[in-house]
Order: sequence, then C-alpha cells, then structure tokens
Amino acid sequence: MVTFIGRRWTQLGMVAMVCLAGACGSAPRVEVVDLLITGGRVLDPASDLDAVRDVAVSDGEIVAVSELGERRFEAAEVLDAAGRVVAPGFIDLHAHGQDLESSRFQARDGVTTALELEIGVYPVDPWYASREGRALINFGASVSHQGARRASFGSLVATRNGEGTFSLGDAAQADAYLYDPVPDEELGRLARFMVGGLDEGALGFGFGISYTPGASHEELWHLFAAAAERRAPVFMHLRSAAAFTAGGALAPFQEAVANAAGTGASLHIVHMNSSAGAAAPEALALIRGAQARGVDVTTEAYPYTASASRIESALFDSWVGRPEADYERLQWVETGERLTEATFRAYREQGGWVITHGRDEETNEWIVSQPDVIAASDGIPFADGRAHPRGAGTFARILGHYVRERGALSLMDGVRKMTVLPARRLETIVPAMASKGRVQVGADADLTLFDPEQVIDRATYDEPDRYSEGIVHVLVSGTFVVRDERLVDGVTPGQAIRAGS
Ligand SMILES: [Zn+2]
Repeated sequence: MVTFIGRRWTQLGMVAMVCLAGACGSAPRVEVVDLLITGGRVLDPASDLDAVRDVAVSDGEIVAVSELGERRFEAAEVLDAAGRVVAPGFIDLHAHGQDLESSRFQARDGVTTALELEIGVYPVDPWYASREGRALINFGASVSHQGARRASFGSLVATRNGEGTFSLGDAAQADAYLYDPVPDEELGRLARFMVGGLDEGALGFGFGISYTPGASHEELWHLFAAAAERRAPVFMHLRSAAAFTAGGALAPFQEAVANAAGTGASLHIVHMNSSAGAAAPEALALIRGAQARGVDVTTEAYPYTASASRIESALFDSWVGRPEADYERLQWVETGERLTEATFRAYREQGGWVITHGRDEETNEWIVSQPDVIAASDGIPFADGRAHPRGAGTFARILGHYVRERGALSLMDGVRKMTVLPARRLETIVPAMASKGRVQVGADADLTLFDPEQVIDRATYDEPDRYSEGIVHVLVSGTFVVRDERLVDGVTPGQAIRAGS
C-alpha cells in the first residue's frame, strides 16, 4: 500500500518534471491530410527503410513517413495497411502497351508509370497530346529511331522521285527505311530529326536495331554522339548477333558499350535476357566492367523464358526455310496456336504478334536474381485480352514467384529493381524522376500496397488476360487506380513524363 502511494507520488513527481520541461502542454499538432496509410510495412529502397510507418498524403504528395502515433493526423481517409507492404509505385521502362486496356493490366500489376523507351514514338508531340488528361497511369516515350528513319527516308525518296509524296504501296520503298543504309550525307538530317524529338520532350533515343538492319555501325556511332551532346540516354534493342560475322551473343553488347564509352552517351540495354540468352553471365560481366570504368550503362530483363515480336519484322527474316520443328516454338498471340511452316508463312504475310519459346529457366532465374538488373516488362499491347503474359504479370511474378517462392532475391532487392533503379535511370533527362520510386517526404504519392504472402502473377501464355493477385491498392499521385484488388473506374491521374520536367 505504502509502496503504491509512494510510487504514486513518484509518478506524479515525474509528470511534473516533464511538464516543467514544457513537453506535456504542447500536444503534437494535428496535421490535416487527404489520406493516412497506417500500420503498413514501408519499403523504401532508396534509403533502405524497411519498417512499419504511417504514411500521410496530401495534394498528390507524400507529406509524412513517421513512426506509428508519433504525429497526429486528421485525414479525409484512413487506410489500414497492416500486413501490407507500402512500396513506391512500380516504374516500367519498357511498355509497348500504351492504351487503356494495357494500362489496366499494368495497374493491377502495381505499375504507376509505364514508358515506351525501346522503340519510342515519332513524331513525339502528337503522341503526348493524345494522352494528356486521359491516362490511367503515368506515360512517356523516347524518340523513335525507326520513326525518324522512316520520316527521313520518306522525304529522301520523295526528293529522289521528284514527286513529293512517299507511297507506302511501293513495297521496296516502304521497307527501305528498315533495310537500306542512310547515305552519309543524310546522317546529319536523321540526327536532327531525332534531336527534334528531344526538343518535344522525348525521354531519350529509342533504338530497335534488330528491326532496322540497314542501320550501319557508323550510323549508330553518329547518333550516339548526337544523344551524348544532349545528355539524352539511349535505350537500345541490340543488333542481332547474326549480323556479326564472328557471331556469338556478346558482339551486339560490345558494339553498344563501345559506342557509349566512345561518345559518353548514357546507355540502357533493353531485355538483356533475350539478347544474351545463355551468354547472360558474360554480357552482364561486360556491362559491370564498363560501369566500373565510368561508362554509364544499365540494363533490364523481364522474368519469362519466351519473347514476343511482330512476325513480319526483320527479326523473323532468318526464320524462313527453317526445319519444321523450329516453328513449334512459335505461338500466335491472337489464337494461342503453335505454328507450322505453312502457318508461319501465312501469318508473316498478314502480320501480327508472335511469341517465341525456348530460353532456359535456370538462366532466367539467375538474371532475375541480379540486383542491378532492372525489372521491365517489355509488355506488348493487349488486344481483346490477347498478349504476352509479361504485360500483366511481370512485377507480381518477381515478388511472388522469385522472391517468395524461390528465394532467388530479397524483397528489398526485388522492390528496388522496379522502383528507384528505373527512376534513377531517367533522372538526368527528367529531374522530376527524383520524386518517383521513393516512399519519402516530398515524393510523388505513386504507391503500390501489396500482400507479400499473396502477391503472384496469374497471366499465362494461353490465358494472358488474368490480373495479378495480392496487389491490393495502387495510387497515382494520391489517386486510387486500384482499390482492394479492383480497378477504379473513371479516374485518369496519369501524367506525362517528359524531358526537362
Ligand atoms: Zn525489344
């Protein structure tokens, strides 16, 4: 009893002391915010923060990341995130699906920013204008080498023919911009076409060299130099290994890295998994070696053993006349059927998307496990629910299958390669990207909340139109685009990601 009283007095004494110190009078002020996400496990790879925190959002921005109860908020909405990971919204540097149907699959896979950097667009301005105010998630593109070549060839052929028009009907001329070399005296003009795209806000130069076999080594060198001069990154689908007489998968990597080293251009090599195949360890060693010697080169991969491309493209020129068995590896996207030589020829005439199976899973998993290889989907546009599953499941597949089920990499490394690493890749040309890919005060409220125990991809080669599971809430600039694993209709918070912004 005495003890109690005595203890009681001691306690009162303590409180008095604290008040004297002026602490108890000033209760933490109440901060009015739009949204309070409470009790979630915040993963911020940029700072290596991995802890339960309150995250407050106002006007599309993160205004607080604080210990539970440390600060007092009055929020228009409180979201209980217990058991969820609160991560930065996923940034996809390689997304060809830039329409609403494709964006819906990406949003359900946790993507808040999807960019067309490999092939790019041309001209640039109208592409951006056509999406302003209508986009579900953030969007952006590079200036297309293929498109600029087409424009320069168009006016070139028109000049030559003296007719002033460029007729697509004329097959030979129609393909010239893909297969013919650009005359040296025209290289300057082609470079001006591409730099013009940068002036319109493009995020760099986009090359699909395997699709434009006419582009010489000199042309590439010239255009790398033009990009370097503008400090614009180069996004590159490498030249086909078959184009190098010595052969071997490394030669295309060597060409690109040498151009970056020689011009000072920043280089991002797309889908190193499909470009390197089994030579992935050597290709990555080459990239890391160049990085260690000051070359600004990065790379990415998608977590699947099959690729996808247009069947009428130059990529399939070498498939004509192959043994029948080879065609079995090809799967027609529209129908899901496997091809024969006869159907290959027929579809090549018609044109369309085809999936090529055949890479090994062991190398695939090794590539995904590399923390410095950025995660990027290379998603192709969905059409009536048909596409390659990578456009719907890339990010959930990495977090669910490779992180949780296979233990191939840590959750933090998994989140890092789909958030801050792609953001950093763009910061030289888009300083505003420093506000993305982070869960930090001042960052954009692009957030993906997922259940680390449930997250998994569901899309398959036969059923690509299946949404990922376990991606619970997705916010773009503080606006829900996914809530409780359901798409939110009628919202278009997606903003343009443009150079200089
Ligand atoms: Zn590609």
